[in-house]
Parts: sequence; structure tokens; C-alpha cells
Amino acid sequence: MSGKDPELSRLGEALSSARSAYAAAKKNTDETKARLNETGSRIQTFNAKIADLKKGIDSEYNAMRSERAGGDRDAADEHRSLAQSMQETLTQIYESKKACFAELDEARAAFNKALDAQKVLRDKVQEAWDGFNARLEYLKTENAKEQAKWKEKPCRICGVPIRYNVEWKHIPNLCKACFEKDKENWEDRTCAKCGKTFRINKGWEHIPTICSDCRKVVKAEKAAREAEKAARVQAEQEAEQASSMQAEAERQAAASALVDVANEEIQAAEG
Ligand SMILES: [Zn+2]
Ligand SMILES: [Zn+2]
Repeated sequence: MSGKDPELSRLGEALSSARSAYAAAKKNTDETKARLNETGSRIQTFNAKIADLKKGIDSEYNAMRSERAGGDRDAADEHRSLAQSMQETLTQIYESKKACFAELDEARAAFNKALDAQKVLRDKVQEAWDGFNARLEYLKTENAKEQAKWKEKPCRICGVPIRYNVEWKHIPNLCKACFEKDKENWEDRTCAKCGKTFRINKGWEHIPTICSDCRKVVKAEKAAREAEKAARVQAEQEAEQASSMQAEAERQAAASALVDVANEEIQAAEG
């Protein structure tokens, strides 16, 4: 998924080109450093030669002086001429060394420049790397969020798990196989009441003979009838209750009348 993100691909390409630019700059730095070292070691070689020649010149002049003191002019001249020729070589070496110093300055400047360029490119690699990583982290988070939207529930018919996305408008209740099988179970019927066509599923426990609109009407009518019946029953019960209360009152009145008659008879007998 992350591999298909065009922004990540772009950042990946930017990173790899920053890396090759850095590698080229590093190679350049290494080359200028080698040149700087090589120039430095050439100067060391000149210094060693200079020291040797100075020593040689000194010893030739000493030899010249001692031959001169000993009175051998020819030998003294030979030593002087050797010292002079060494002096000439020394002058040449000084010239070469001077030229080499100019080269050293140039090599050092080139090295410093290359090093600075390498540092800039190293920062660019870091920057490209940060950008790439940030995008990768972002995609990981987005991917996790997307994964969390996927859930499972059992098929209503066979119970196998159905994978679905919570953002779907219609989340299926049946697995694919059951959905296909269930499609064959659907059939057109004609409403027994209004004649309209409606669909039934042969798998239903109770298959209706009338359409859903008519079912609603029938249900409403039945409810109305039941309400009417309940009202009638209640009215009857109330009437019955009222008449039984009246009967009781009458019965009590009759009983108390009998008591009165009896009392009168008792009084008459006593009197
Ligand atoms: Zn199923
Ligand atoms: Zn109907």
C-alpha cells in the first residue's frame, strides 16, 4: 500500500538522488584530500633534501678551508666548486618548494571547498531522509486507521465470517455464497388484496399473500377493531359492576326491612 503512494515514491527518489549527490561530493573531497596530502609530502621531501644539501655545502666549505690551510689550492678549489654546484641545486629546490607552496594553498582551498559542499549535501540527505520517514509514518498511521474500519460478522445463514468496511452504505448480512443462493429464493407474487406485484423469499417462515402496503392497512384495521372491542368489553364490565352494586343495595335494603318487621313483632309480643 505504502509503495503505491506517489508522494512517498517522489520522496524516495529525492532521497536517493541526494545520496548520490553526497557520494559524488565525498569522492571529490577524498580526491582533493589526497592531492593535499601528496603536495604536503612533496614539501617534506624538499625539506629533507634541503637539510642534506646544507649539510653537504657546510662540509665542502670546511674541507675547502682545511685544504687551503694545508696549502693544496687545487683540492680547495674542487671543494669550493662542489659546494657551489650544491648551492645551485639548493636554489633550484627552493624555487620548486616555493611553487609547491602555491600548489599546497590551492589544494587546501579546493579541499575546504569540497568539504563545505559535502557538509551541505549531507544536510540535504538528512532533510530528504526526514521527509521520507515522516511520510512513511503518516502512511502507517493512515493504514492502521483504514485497517480499523474493517470488521467481521457472521453470515446470517451459514455463520461464516463476513469482512466488511464500516463506511459501506450497505453492510451485507449474507456471505457471497449464501447471497447468491438466496437470490434464487426471491419470487414475485401478486397481492391477493390489491393485485400489486411484491417480492417474497421462499426461505421465510411465513410467506405473506398480500403486499406490505395492504399488510399495513390490515394491521391498522385489526388494531382499530381490537381497540373497539376492548372499549366495548370495558363498558360491559362497568355496566355489570353497576348492576351488581344495585342488586347488593337492594338486597341489603330488603334484609334491613325484614329486621324491622321482626323487631316490630317482638315488641308486639312483649307488650
Ligand atoms: Zn453464508
Ligand atoms: Zn396489496
